[in-house]
Amino acid sequence: MSLVLLPASLGELWAMLGDEPGCAVFAGGTDLLVRKRAGFAHGEPLVCLDRIPELREIHESDGLLRIGAGITHTACSASPLVNKHAPVLALALCRIGSPQVRNMGTIGGNICTASPAGDSLPALHILNAEVVLRSRKSKRVLPIADFIRGPGKTDLRPGEILVEVRIPSAVDFQVQHFEKVGQRNAQAIAVVSLAALVRLNRRGIVEEARLALGSVGPTVVRPREAEEALAGRRLSLTALRQAAELVRSAVSPIDDIRATAAYRKEVAGNLLLRLAVL
Ligand SMILES: Cc1cc2nc3c(=O)[nH]c(=O)nc-3n(C[C@H](O)[C@H](O)[C@H](O)COP(=O)(O)OP(=O)(O)OC[C@H]3O[C@@H](n4cnc5c(N)ncnc54)[C@H](O)[C@@H]3O)c2cc1C
Repeated sequence: MSLVLLPASLGELWAMLGDEPGCAVFAGGTDLLVRKRAGFAHGEPLVCLDRIPELREIHESDGLLRIGAGITHTACSASPLVNKHAPVLALALCRIGSPQVRNMGTIGGNICTASPAGDSLPALHILNAEVVLRSRKSKRVLPIADFIRGPGKTDLRPGEILVEVRIPSAVDFQVQHFEKVGQRNAQAIAVVSLAALVRLNRRGIVEEARLALGSVGPTVVRPREAEEALAGRRLSLTALRQAAELVRSAVSPIDDIRATAAYRKEVAGNLLLRLAVL
């Protein structure tokens, strides 16, 4: 049995973290509590972030969408602000686990878990999201790509928590797409995932394409050559097939219990072809 502390504000949280340097924080618990039961997570007492109102707000200010780290996937994907400024993120969050997992799991927990298969991460990378990290005495802001260091590794320092995700509006990207291939439709970790943002001009020519893939490397992969190859072209099957080859060259998947590396590489390119029919 673990002791669980329930701070009701950031002020209370800083006091508890100061008193309990060996503690482990969690939000929805859908990752940490599973790992703890399996003996892979340590730290006592547990400090639950669920009751801190400052972490549960979504708002827009200074041209940025600001999502509290404690927002659940269900709330985030249903938010009118998220659907207006970053529909690709809403699409990605809808594909996490099951309704029960999405009702408990949070965006902060998905980011801090830093899984190569974390479904929010490809979308957050192409949205140029930043994370706001606070401790009792400090505050810093990092691009998501700098925060996630490797599988299960982040730049989080002792005494620090993720409080907010900041996202510049992506309303001018007409194509916003997320697709995940797993072993089944729900309750499945991604075998490969793709998030895409494409801005077209009035003639239907690509002005900017941003692509990110999950589960095909230790962290999210941005296939920059494929992005550049699409610029200046229509989203035709020919252009996408050429870019798909560049996607396959950019990824470095592994064999594991869910799929072979060769399968992942093939599918990573194939996912791009879907943009032809959107
Ligand atoms: C059945 C099942 C299915 C799942 N399916 C998917 C899936 O399809 N896709 C997917 O991406 N994930 C999936 N997951 C994993 C998990 O649900 C998600 O990663 C979820 O977003 C984690 O959020 P949480 O709030 O529950 O994290 P928690 O378990 O509370 O925490 C996870 C980690 O993040 C840290 N943490 C949490 N919040 C903060 C914060 N604000 N600041 C600092 N550190 C923090 C904790 O210390 C812990 O190390 C699944 C899990 C289960 C059990």
